[in-house]
Amino acid sequence: MFRIQRTPYGGRGAFASQAIPEDTLIHTCPGPFAHLVYRAFRKEICAYCFVYAFDSGKSGWGVKIACDGDGSAKGGVWFCKEECRDRWEEEDNVDGMLMSAYDAIDREAKRLGKANEKGKGKDDGKPRSKIQELEKTIPKKGEAITQDLIDQAWKSAEAIAESRNHGEDMVAELHKSDVDVARFISTVLVHRYIEDNHPTPPPSPSTSPSTSKSPSPTPSLQSFSQSLPSSPPTSPSPSLKSFLPLPSPELSGNDWLAFLNLQNNELAHLQSIPAALCQALRVYLFTLQTLPPPLLQYLPGPGSDDPLIKYLPLSVRELQARDAGNSFGIWQQPSGGESEMFGWGIWVSASFFNHSCDPNVHKVRNGRIFEFYTSSDVEEGEELCISYGFIDDDLDVKERREGLKESWYFECECSRCLEEMREKENNRVAVQD
Ligand SMILES: [Zn+2]
Ligand SMILES: [Zn+2]
Repeated sequence: MFRIQRTPYGGRGAFASQAIPEDTLIHTCPGPFAHLVYRAFRKEICAYCFVYAFDSGKSGWGVKIACDGDGSAKGGVWFCKEECRDRWEEEDNVDGMLMSAYDAIDREAKRLGKANEKGKGKDDGKPRSKIQELEKTIPKKGEAITQDLIDQAWKSAEAIAESRNHGEDMVAELHKSDVDVARFISTVLVHRYIEDNHPTPPPSPSTSPSTSKSPSPTPSLQSFSQSLPSSPPTSPSPSLKSFLPLPSPELSGNDWLAFLNLQNNELAHLQSIPAALCQALRVYLFTLQTLPPPLLQYLPGPGSDDPLIKYLPLSVRELQARDAGNSFGIWQQPSGGESEMFGWGIWVSASFFNHSCDPNVHKVRNGRIFEFYTSSDVEEGEELCISYGFIDDDLDVKERREGLKESWYFECECSRCLEEMREKENNRVAVQD
């Protein structure tokens, strides 16, 4: 029904390969590649289908994996029903890996919290861990941040990891939302673990007509690198030069390589929020000192001796570079002005739809999957676009484009923007005359 191809303005987009009537389901995205439900919401949001207990008149969900001695749910996950729990076990928690990651993160965060509580009042001004020294070298908001500086900071973080003494804390203190980000990262590491250890993906709940073509298997690293096209990637990260873009982007990809093929927004994102670099470095070292061994191999540093894994780019950095500008919020349904955001996630194939301020496609979250419907009749060859937000009529074209630039790192050149800018210019000229 549509194909992915390069757009005249750079990057990729989805284009109708036939005329499509209004209200047609054109694509279904399977569950998120990476996601996070804020810890604060973990009892109220089903960890599988993201349904909000409050909307069913409940204060929290009751289905858990099992209880620890203190009565808390294992992995800190709650479900709206047993079926959701079972599907989560099957799709997300393969070999119990995600639950061990979540549990390890919670335990370690608790331990650090207690140690900090005890250490209060004894502050002698000395940095308590190596990451604190590194953080001092990162610019604050408003100061210049460059690609070199980011590369250097990551090298330093890896050096801290390499030189770690046994049992030493590389991170001694967590900041607000570090635990959430560590949980987010563990969903990606578990995805990579599943890809490597259980190459056949679990059955997708997708019933979309556009996914009826035969699924394309994850290319092996070797066949992948042999079939790389010679055109340069649109926005390469230094470690990724040989990875982008995918030879023929397919919508079926929901794996690490398809994820890496998403636009890399690292520099723009960190220039806008330098503190995010400190957080990524901190969480990288925290996960390294925390996560169970089968997942550690996906983080560089001790444990990743396998040359193939060393060759693969490091997860935390690549995740941050793509999280920015590619993730969608997990909103209360139906989403509207009053909805709450419970977390966010990356649905790889959802990112193939570009933004337009006059979109012809809208997305609907149905549990953990996203469905895309045409909002008007679409002609063959027309680009299929959704809205990334900011399109309310109360913003003028300038405010709207600024909002998009700040949140999504692009200058909107959609037909509505171009037309409204032209109108604005004509008005200005008319006033001057
Ligand atoms: Zn559920
Ligand atoms: Zn626009």
